[in-house]
Amino acid sequence: MKNILVTGGAGYIGSHAILDLIANNYNVVIADNFSNSSPLVIKKLEELSGKTLPFFDVDIRDKNKLTNIFSTFNFDGVINFAGLKAVGESVEEPLSYYNNNVCGMINLLEVMAEYKVFNLVFSSSATVYGIPDTMPLLETNSMGAINPYARTKKIIEEILRDLAQSSDEWKIIALRYFNPLGAHKSGEIGENPNGIPNNLAPYITQVAAGKLDKLYVFGNDYDTPDGTCIRDYVHINDLASGHTAALNTLLKNYNLKNNFEAINLGSGKGYSVFEIIKNFEAVIGRTIPYEIISRRAGDLDVSLADVSKAKRLLGWEPTYSIKEMCADVWRWQEKNPNGYV
Ligand code: NAD
Ligand code: UDP
Repeated sequence: MKNILVTGGAGYIGSHAILDLIANNYNVVIADNFSNSSPLVIKKLEELSGKTLPFFDVDIRDKNKLTNIFSTFNFDGVINFAGLKAVGESVEEPLSYYNNNVCGMINLLEVMAEYKVFNLVFSSSATVYGIPDTMPLLETNSMGAINPYARTKKIIEEILRDLAQSSDEWKIIALRYFNPLGAHKSGEIGENPNGIPNNLAPYITQVAAGKLDKLYVFGNDYDTPDGTCIRDYVHINDLASGHTAALNTLLKNYNLKNNFEAINLGSGKGYSVFEIIKNFEAVIGRTIPYEIISRRAGDLDVSLADVSKAKRLLGWEPTYSIKEMCADVWRWQEKNPNGYV
């Protein structure tokens, strides 16, 4: 069995990916500093997988602690989910974003190189595309990140590309996520935002749960059929299996032309804000109160993935419908009204 270090593994995407990796016979070691997650996630992952999971409370910028982990385990690869992700916060505190995301990645790469672990899957984002000229987005579209958070992802991708070009030993896949939605079918793990959510789905479920009064829809004057923004929502379990597919490609059947590949993970289907509200209303069985307010700065009218590269190179395809995404989020919200407490 292959040993994988999952950094940022206690977070929303990492926790779901870990269950998929375990189901596919990978041994997982988790490292996280809990800056945006709860230690209870580890307990839930152990219950759901029936395994004891080696876990380290480590900041990926701490070279000594990382070195201790690498000297204890013989890793075949690393998945790095560790990163700060709030766009608004990144505008207010750019240095902490560059320090955490970019310096953390460089530090991790240096330790990987020292221990000759050259296989990496990195959490990138559709935000690296900036303002696109064509839709759906292909990986060949130019990058053009428009805020500090997005620039950390773009800079890291550029570092990874340079690294892969420097030596044939490195094998790296950057997965560009579109909009993750949903939760594990058990309803035991899910997205657990701190304070008032920034993102659409957790905001809607908190309105439905009576924790917030109403949803504020950011603009209905976009160039879309109903005037609200269209996004590509992808089920968290599909996103999770995308990481297993990427690792399988890196470790078991490497047949890629390049040592570095950036690959979109989305559903390839777009839904407007109003369509998401309707889908949640159908699942929850009541109306979601909302008010239309002005546009949020930086929002594109449409963001949609072309996922043919993931299918071609990883053999991966999205499988879940928007209804299942909404139903699974709602199950998680109902079972855990206050998140991980
Ligand atoms: P998350 O905040 O739930 O998970 C990130 C995890 O990393 C958290 O558990 C946090 O405690 C940990 N972490 C952060 N900095 C760390 C550090 N320096 N050392 C160790 N651990 C650290 O976020 P998520 O939604 O699971 O996202 C995972 C990754 O995917 C992030 O890099 C994020 O930028 C990227 N991403 C997320 C989305 C999204 O919409 N959720 C979209 C595109 C890309
Ligand atoms: N949105 C909204 N109200 C909210 C949060 C989001 O209308 O409280 C809209 C936002 O303008 C965008 C879509 O929902 O069109 C998805 O936003 P989210 O922040 O979830 O993801 P993003 O696409 O920005 O990464």
